[in-house]
Amino acid sequence: MLFDPRPKSRREEIFDREKELNSLLKGMEEYPITVLIGIRRVGKSSLLRVTLNEFDGLGLYLDARRLYAAGGGTISPAVLVDEIRKILLGKGRFGFLSGIKLESVNLAGVKITPKEMTIIDVFELLNGLGERFGRVVLAFDEAQYLRFYGPRGGKDLLAGIAYAYDSLPNLGFVFTGSEVGLLHDFIGIDDYSSPLFGRVYEEVEVKPFPRGLSEAFLRVGFEEVGLKVPDEEIKRAVDGLNGIPGWLVEFGFNYWKSGSFEMAMERTVERARAMIREELLELEKRSPRYSLILRAIAIGLHRWKNIKDYVEAKGGPITNARLSALLKNLEKMSWVRKESGEYRIIDPLVEKILKG
Ligand code: ADP
Ligand code: MG
Repeated sequence: MLFDPRPKSRREEIFDREKELNSLLKGMEEYPITVLIGIRRVGKSSLLRVTLNEFDGLGLYLDARRLYAAGGGTISPAVLVDEIRKILLGKGRFGFLSGIKLESVNLAGVKITPKEMTIIDVFELLNGLGERFGRVVLAFDEAQYLRFYGPRGGKDLLAGIAYAYDSLPNLGFVFTGSEVGLLHDFIGIDDYSSPLFGRVYEEVEVKPFPRGLSEAFLRVGFEEVGLKVPDEEIKRAVDGLNGIPGWLVEFGFNYWKSGSFEMAMERTVERARAMIREELLELEKRSPRYSLILRAIAIGLHRWKNIKDYVEAKGGPITNARLSALLKNLEKMSWVRKESGEYRIIDPLVEKILKG
């Protein structure tokens, strides 16, 4: 059902995205590394899960944000190794892993201590499984959080991935992320100090639906639940929510439950407000000025100088360098985009809510 508000995992549950699905599938089959980008709520996790289900080899889904939260702000190598083991055991076919002698997975002649398996050992094990069961893909959702892996900003994991890239042909990786700039920074393909510097990878972008598809999405969704909704209301909904599937689903679901356009819109905005409030709290932990900057932009201050005046009026002096750095971060976290010298909030519903 399209209006089911949970992330989808079967092909028939998602609307459109045929092209993206095929590109992602091709990435899983042929590339050592595939990067799936797109803003929040556009449908990355759903597309990733659906594609992993369609994938012929063995696909493992890991949510880096969840691991980060569960670890209280870090991802320890042992936890990641254990998570991968659990997923494999959950797949049923790999019961032999529970009693495995760790020495026996030593494929590259590297000496490993029996009690602790390193991430490299796991990658070698997976590559071995890939030989027997078809290709193995490790898919990290919200992978920008992997920068909290280990003590060196995720560098140890990247080194392992670089090793896999060069030496383990049956193991592939997918990274997705809503904070596109942070994800690119983490992977560091363009950064000579990154272990992955210079590697080739496939990139797939999930974009908001264009107008026509957004309307079609709502029409098909309403048809599924047997609701007749006037065209004029569908158009008005898309005016307010744009083509972001997460908001369209929320609206459709609420309309279905309440039977009223106004009620559905109200609940959708309410729910969006709650979600955004939580995300802002997360941002404010990094710097309290982020909210001020976002609010400045939302109320129509698009130029650097006007943003600075607003932030200083509300929050005291800030240096030019600091403001520039915070704006750059907001771009990297996909809250804000810069166009011909002007800053804009990317998601129009977020903009509306920030305006208050
Ligand atoms: P992201 O991972 O990009 O933040 P999700 O995959 O979590 O986005 O999707 C957000 C919401 O939108 C979920 O409720 C999901 O069910 C819905 N959704 C996203 N894309 C589609 C689609 N193509 N068809 C139907 N529902 C979708
Ligand atoms: Mg997601």
